[in-house]
Amino acid sequence: MKTLFAAMLFMASFTTSTQQQSQVYICTGPDAYRYHKTDRCRGLNRCTGEIRKVPVSYAQSVGFTVCRICKPR
Ligand SMILES: [Zn+2]
Repeated sequence: MKTLFAAMLFMASFTTSTQQQSQVYICTGPDAYRYHKTDRCRGLNRCTGEIRKVPVSYAQSVGFTVCRICKPR
């Protein structure tokens, strides 16, 4: 029973951490307004600034909207 409890605890923390670690890619250039699921997205090709990996909640809070090309969930 002890092992089962530990396994459940592990599963619970795993689920929580993956939700918190939902990362997306944004461009720091002046014309950027989309966030991307992958840094290889062609929407980032025209980026004139730096490509940064940030939590999706941060990207949304600074006004970025989801990229229609790579669509992060
Ligand atoms: Zn994209």
